[in-house]
Amino acid sequence: EEAQRLQKIIAQAGLASRRGAEELIAKGRVQVNGQTITELGMKVEPNDHVEVDGSPIEGREKLVYYLLNKPRGVVTTNNDEKGRQTVIDLLGDVSQRVYPIGRLDYDTTGVLLLTNDGVVANQLMHPKSRVDKVYVAKVEGIATDEKLAPLKHGVVIKGRKTAPARVTIERVDKDKKTSMVRVIIHEGRNHQIKNMLQKVHLPVVKLTREQYAFFDLIGLQSGEYRKLTGAEVRRLK
Ligand code: URA
Repeated sequence: EEAQRLQKIIAQAGLASRRGAEELIAKGRVQVNGQTITELGMKVEPNDHVEVDGSPIEGREKLVYYLLNKPRGVVTTNNDEKGRQTVIDLLGDVSQRVYPIGRLDYDTTGVLLLTNDGVVANQLMHPKSRVDKVYVAKVEGIATDEKLAPLKHGVVIKGRKTAPARVTIERVDKDKKTSMVRVIIHEGRNHQIKNMLQKVHLPVVKLTREQYAFFDLIGLQSGEYRKLTGAEVRRLK
């Protein structure tokens, strides 16, 4: 552990973006060892005591990053009110308090990043960062280019149009009347893929996220996870 700039510590605690942290400091809402600090860039030692609006920042944890191949039947929240298994329960030997970057539905499988780095998490989840998410859906019905065309322009869901998606047909089973389609989006609205495909009358029966940014599922069985490499973490930042 080494000395770090005050605004970085506040941002890493997930209390604000880096800019937001600078504002908190400038407004006199931050104290170090009981003294209000208003100038930026102060170096803070690991055992200095930092408070924002009178609340101490938790002990500074090591930042960790994991990639999980989420199985079905697991929720993506840290705490489920119905007591169902959560993705956090799957990270057996992770002692830091990590949380998922974005959400996957209970029955959706695939790529999920988890971290305790609030800065990276906020950055990736911000709409402006336009992270590509690649989904493969098994749908009921025969997919055709005509049927899928509206998704390439955007469809209205809950009063708001979706951004154009890239859509390809992977497979059609004419006997079973099912299809596999690949959909790439950068938005992350609730149940977005299911709602989009429902809109074109191809209801989803199975959904997997194959990629998130430059991460895929290679080498990870369902329920398995791994630490990101140093190079992957640098690429994320
Ligand atoms: N879209 C969905 O409908 N569900 C997910 O879990 C992810 C994207």
